[in-house]
Amino acid sequence: MTEKTPPTDGNTGGDALKVTLLGTGIPNAQINAFGTSTLIEAGDEKLLIDCGRGTAIRLSQLGLGVGHVDHILLSHYHSDHYAGLFDVVMTGSIPQKFGGRMGPLHVYGPPGIDRIAEGAWIATGPDRDIRVADNEIDPEHMRIIPHEYEEGVVYDRGGLVVRAIKVDHGDFIDIAYGFRVEYGGRVFVHSHDTRYNENLIAQAQGADVFVHEVAAARPEIQAANPAVGLVMAHHASPAEVGRVFAQTRPKLALLTHMVLLKPDPVSVEEVMAEVAT
Ligand SMILES: [Zn+2]
Ligand SMILES: [Zn+2]
Repeated sequence: MTEKTPPTDGNTGGDALKVTLLGTGIPNAQINAFGTSTLIEAGDEKLLIDCGRGTAIRLSQLGLGVGHVDHILLSHYHSDHYAGLFDVVMTGSIPQKFGGRMGPLHVYGPPGIDRIAEGAWIATGPDRDIRVADNEIDPEHMRIIPHEYEEGVVYDRGGLVVRAIKVDHGDFIDIAYGFRVEYGGRVFVHSHDTRYNENLIAQAQGADVFVHEVAAARPEIQAANPAVGLVMAHHASPAEVGRVFAQTRPKLALLTHMVLLKPDPVSVEEVMAEVAT
C-alpha cells in the first residue's frame, strides 16, 4: 500500500510498510472473498492479522510458504476471522517450500486464546503423530504459543508496532479489536468487526490507509425481518462508515467485510454512494 521504495525479491525494502488484504469476506463461503486476513510486511517482520478461510491459499498465491509467517494476531473469535488457522498451523509445519515453519506459531488474541491453542494441539494430534512417526516434521513446529492481549501495544519488534483498539461488535460481544499498525512513519488502521465506535475514531487519526467494515440492508427489509436487524446491530452502516471517515480523514479509505443482506441486497455502488454522502 504505502511503499516508499519498490520491492525487490519479495522484500519490502527500506522503511516501507507493505499491507496485503488476503481476505475481505464474511462467514458465507464464497470464492471471490475469503475470510478476513491481512498480511503485514515491514523490514524483516512478517505478521498476519486474522486468519480466516483461505489464508493458506492466498499466502501461496503470493509465493510465500504457509509457514513463513510466525506471528498471527486475532481480532475476535467469529469463525470468519480464524477458520483458516488450523490449515496454517498444520500445513506450515511441513518442512517443504510450501510450508517451512522452523519453530512454533505465535498467536495473539483476547481472552480465549489459551483454549484455541490447547484445542489445536489436540485436534492436530493425529496428523502430527503420522508425520513424526515418518520422521517428517518436528512436532513443536505444529504448536501454537498463545499470547493473550488487552487494548494497547500487542506487537513491537523491529520497528513494527501494532496497537489493539477496543471496538464495539454488539451488545453481547465484549471482546473485539481493531488494529493500528505503524512502521517507518506510515500508519495503517483496520477496524475489523465493529459498529460505529468513538474509540476507533480517536485512535485512527493520521492514518495513511484506513480499512473499515460495513453492513447494509434496505430499510423495509430490516423492518420486516428481525434477523436482518440483529446482523445490522453488530456492524456499521454505510452512513456511519461515512461519518467515521469524515472524522478521521485517512489518505486512503477502503471498505471490507461487506455484509449486504438479502433479499434484494444493496449494491456495492449504492454502499459507496451512501458512504460518500
Ligand atoms: Zn465478527
Ligand atoms: Zn467477521
